[in-house]
Amino acid sequence: MAEKRDYYEVLGVDKGAEKKDIKKAYRKLAMKYHPDVSEDQESGEKFKEISEAYAVLSDAEKRQTYDQYGHAGMNGFSQEDIYNNVNFDDIFRGFGFGGGQSSSRSSSGGGGFESIFDLFGFGGGGGNGPTQGEDVYYEMNITLEEAASGLEEDIEVPHKKTCPKCHGSKAEPGTDTRTCPECGGSGQVRQVSNTPLGQFATVRPCRTCRGEGQVIDTPCKECHGKGIVKNKSTIHVKIPPGVEDGSRLRVPGEGDVGTRRGPPGDLYVIIGVKKHQLFKREESDLIYNMPISFVQASLGDTVEAPTLTGAVDLKIPAGTQTGTSFRIRGEGMPHLRWNGKGNLYVKVKIVTPKKLSPKQKELLTEFAEISGEEIYSTDKGFFEKVKEVINH
Ligand SMILES: [Zn+2]
Ligand SMILES: [Zn+2]
Repeated sequence: MAEKRDYYEVLGVDKGAEKKDIKKAYRKLAMKYHPDVSEDQESGEKFKEISEAYAVLSDAEKRQTYDQYGHAGMNGFSQEDIYNNVNFDDIFRGFGFGGGQSSSRSSSGGGGFESIFDLFGFGGGGGNGPTQGEDVYYEMNITLEEAASGLEEDIEVPHKKTCPKCHGSKAEPGTDTRTCPECGGSGQVRQVSNTPLGQFATVRPCRTCRGEGQVIDTPCKECHGKGIVKNKSTIHVKIPPGVEDGSRLRVPGEGDVGTRRGPPGDLYVIIGVKKHQLFKREESDLIYNMPISFVQASLGDTVEAPTLTGAVDLKIPAGTQTGTSFRIRGEGMPHLRWNGKGNLYVKVKIVTPKKLSPKQKELLTEFAEISGEEIYSTDKGFFEKVKEVINH
């Protein structure tokens, strides 16, 4: 598909063009490309292109959106939204013929051009069809322990619901709704205007009933005639064991209610897992950094290592180096998609004492004297290298 052209370029006006100049430019192009007058096979497409550009640039709000975001900014508008402020009557009036032809539609030049909307391929329908309700997002923060065990909880979720008083009818119970006299219940009003270029019919939502087709004399007091109320619902959610931070849990049908019998949106519960003061999570494994003394590391010891559910005995072998990881099987997080659990890794960090009593100092000095060069002899090559670097 060809890239969409810039609206200003399409109309041949500059960015700062005033509204009246934009209108003038459009009229001129419309005279040329209107399918009823143009011989050009592609005039329909061309006419659509200029009409869309005009619809956007002639509306202050849409023009601002377009100026700011370009065509991407127009994605939020439906075809009908784009054209809803354009008065084509006004455009084609005053082409110099006075508009006095009271011709019926069939005599409009035989071009078979029924309405601007038919031409654009959206038939003037829509606008009052069923629409799905919005999805609702709810943030839920849980602890790592809760993420491990899973939990069931009732949450209070604010969302739009059908009004419990009028059940969505919008009318105060006991009062009647009438078929809209303006549009006869269709929700749409068709305006036909004769122009020198043929006849234009525009279809717009009925203003009396706002496209609903029904008129309510006594609006429901609970929802002020909206048929929808903002309400909190208690929803029971089940969080599976092993859930991860940022997971989204979908609860179908618990979002906002749809309009005109459209289906409701969904509820998404976004899980936030709080940081744990001891454990770091890496997928289904847990990491725990455990401080031990250099005496424990040298002589070996059995220590208590915390787990998510309690503690286990961990044997530290004699001669353990700082940074060594010990794996405790099955004490990690449950796997979300299959049975079993990850592991807990206890990573030891040897802590050097900061304050020593005179007695401790004495013993350590004695220790050093006995050890002499022996400590270094275990990795002589390394210390030789260090010396070389220092003396260089
Ligand atoms: Zn109501
Ligand atoms: Zn109406």
